[in-house]
Amino acid sequence: MKKGSVLLKCAALIFGDGSVRTRQNLYTEDGRIAAIVDTDSDDGSRQADEVIDCSRYFVTCGIVNLHAHTAMNIFKGIAEDVKPDQWFNDMIFPYESKMTPQDVYIGTKLGIAEMINNGVTAVADHYFMEEEVLRAVKDTGIRADLAPTVFGASPDYRDRLAQVRAFITEHEKDSELVEFHMGPHADYTCPPQAMGDIVDAAKAMDLPLHLHLAEEEAQVKIALEKYGVTPFGYMERFGAFDLPVLAAHGLWIREDDLKYIKDDTMFAFCPKTYMKLGSGRGGFFDLYDKLNYSFGTDGAASSNTVNPVEQARLFALLGKFLDDDGRTHPTEDMWKHLMNGHRAFRFGTGYLREGAPADLVIWDLNMPDTMAYYHPVTAILYSSTSANVRCTMVAGEILKRDGKLVMDTEELLREASEAQQALIARGKGKANVGYLR
Ligand SMILES: [Zn+2]
Repeated sequence: MKKGSVLLKCAALIFGDGSVRTRQNLYTEDGRIAAIVDTDSDDGSRQADEVIDCSRYFVTCGIVNLHAHTAMNIFKGIAEDVKPDQWFNDMIFPYESKMTPQDVYIGTKLGIAEMINNGVTAVADHYFMEEEVLRAVKDTGIRADLAPTVFGASPDYRDRLAQVRAFITEHEKDSELVEFHMGPHADYTCPPQAMGDIVDAAKAMDLPLHLHLAEEEAQVKIALEKYGVTPFGYMERFGAFDLPVLAAHGLWIREDDLKYIKDDTMFAFCPKTYMKLGSGRGGFFDLYDKLNYSFGTDGAASSNTVNPVEQARLFALLGKFLDDDGRTHPTEDMWKHLMNGHRAFRFGTGYLREGAPADLVIWDLNMPDTMAYYHPVTAILYSSTSANVRCTMVAGEILKRDGKLVMDTEELLREASEAQQALIARGKGKANVGYLR
């Protein structure tokens, strides 16, 4: 189906390296950027179904959320002021054990609504009940890379792996907006036989991996005790790094882990979760310059928001604070890494150039929270809120227009409230998995 064409007229474009080009006419057509021409030299011969005057606005590529459990927006604020083991074992796993498909659908839709509101055009999601996640993705129009979670420690992991393989095979050609990673939960929840099987399945299906690695110091200690290697060394045993790996966290990576990872090992750093759960100053804060990384939000049960710009902001602030040096983590670097998230996908997004998918954000910085600004990237990184996101576009489709979500949020919020009440009424169940148990 042909999509409508849009002209973003007289926009200031901010590129992935933070450079700015003013007075540009950007045309989209059939979901892609059809042309970018200087406003002054545009002869007006190109037509568009819709013209948006961007003479007061900035346009960037969409923001990527590189690690999320989007459905967990339904748990936002449910597990506060706890340590990681309490968070998992006493709160999240017991509540998740009683989650219904409708909870996953509504929670995912809710998380996507928050993301679109914040200019997110693509999310790397890691969750179970993937049919519901996929349904929410399709119903909202966001771009998504799904990793259906596999817990290798579960006795029926072989059945689960077969189910995930069938699901991906069934849906891999569904939409140009959806692609897949193989999603073992983590090194510490997948014993050797299971992890070997999962990595082999990924190789057989030509899928990259998305998993949690070295998020807490305790996970590294346990891997060393059990297997004599770090989580990265453990994954190396299965040839995992022969595949592109999307490694969530890596907070406790060590210098000697660098020998295992490859150029296409991408880290999704989620500092708000580490701050919230008190995860400590891991090696990532010393090694980040040697790593290929971007930002994720993790689930809203630990981060309370799903805005990657906020995560980049917190990383810069934490880094400067821990380094005792305000010169580190410069703004343009943070922006480059934020935009670098697109490279973890096969979508070809993340470029402001002709032919690239039209996944775009229009920023209005003429607002009290961002005025006066001297450089737009500084304003976005350090001052912006969702209110500054005037428009979010995925593959040429406008999902947030004139500062308002296009989807019916009233109905969504009512459904979310009902799901939340039912969830509390059902209470906690018996978890099938345990954290470091
Ligand atoms: Zn996670």
